[in-house]
Amino acid sequence: MSRSGRNGKTFFGLAVLTVLLAAAAVLGSRVASLAPVVREEMERTPTPTPVYGLVMVVTPDPSLPTAPPTLRSGSVGDAVKNLQSRLRNLGYYSAEIDGQFGASTLEAVLLFQTQNGIQTDGIVGPETSELLFSTAARPMTATATPAPTAEPTVTPRPASRKPYEREDGLPLVVNRKQPLPDGYQTYDLVTMNTYCDTSVVKIKYKNTQAEREAVDALMVMLRAAAADGITNWQISAAYRTTKYQKQLFDRQVQTYMEKNGMSKSKATEATRKTVADPGTSEHHLGTCFDITVPGVSFKGTKQHKWLLDNCWDYGFILRYSEEKKNITGFLAEAWHYRYVGVEHAKTMQREDLCLEEYVQRYGVDIE
Ligand SMILES: [Zn+2]
Repeated sequence: MSRSGRNGKTFFGLAVLTVLLAAAAVLGSRVASLAPVVREEMERTPTPTPVYGLVMVVTPDPSLPTAPPTLRSGSVGDAVKNLQSRLRNLGYYSAEIDGQFGASTLEAVLLFQTQNGIQTDGIVGPETSELLFSTAARPMTATATPAPTAEPTVTPRPASRKPYEREDGLPLVVNRKQPLPDGYQTYDLVTMNTYCDTSVVKIKYKNTQAEREAVDALMVMLRAAAADGITNWQISAAYRTTKYQKQLFDRQVQTYMEKNGMSKSKATEATRKTVADPGTSEHHLGTCFDITVPGVSFKGTKQHKWLLDNCWDYGFILRYSEEKKNITGFLAEAWHYRYVGVEHAKTMQREDLCLEEYVQRYGVDIE
């Protein structure tokens, strides 16, 4: 300190040669010679950090290894292990450190990118890598994804169980035989049009709402699809009130009566095949989405195929399949997916169970 104090000006002249050393020296000398001034300033100004516009010139050091390889779905090896442990330290990753860039790793990368405000493509290229392995990397925050709406913050209920879960933790079944419980209340609805990144998914109707947890999972899934090159997604329906369901139902009955000349009871019977009675639609839960592609019939599209192969890994189930229509009581709906969480979804896929069968097999008898 005394040396730099005496030779401060000389060191300042040499600053161009060794940026770091000079920076330290400059600071040292300035602090020493200007100490009284600084002290005086400190008394007047709240945070006088005497840093004099240091510009760091970073030149690549040839002795250091080159930038790490780009990592993406399917990558394997030690670089992936490093990635996984870093993501785990930051709270984004909780699965095994196995060196395999699969769905869990992808999910963690996407979350990291979202929460750190960089491009969310699920690929660990230079930008993501540099930020991830720096001190500027932000750890995972519990309330995922930005909430850019001006909506008042919802106060979560104290209960650990969500209303769309049964007491035993399994997904709540809502169907013709088991209507929505009396006094059912939603948990944490968000308005998708403002909450979601609409460059990833188009929300057909601007007031469409759904439960935050399900929407977050949906976005992770659709971003993963986009990383696979499958884009052009649309949400045609999500949360519905019983009042709205009644309008839908009555409108369909009316159409059958007017266009097909059916009696009211025949028209009602026909309507029940495709439209749920008010109180018996899963859409009342806010955890279901009608996922479509704008302007085309969804069945058979590449988006449809991608969901059939992958939705389970993201906690979604195809709710009404052709094979299970006698159990679900609904004709097949290629577009209707319900969020139930990864564990339930994967088991249902593996054991080929629809929700009714799953709950019967694994549920604890309630009441
Ligand atoms: Zn639906």
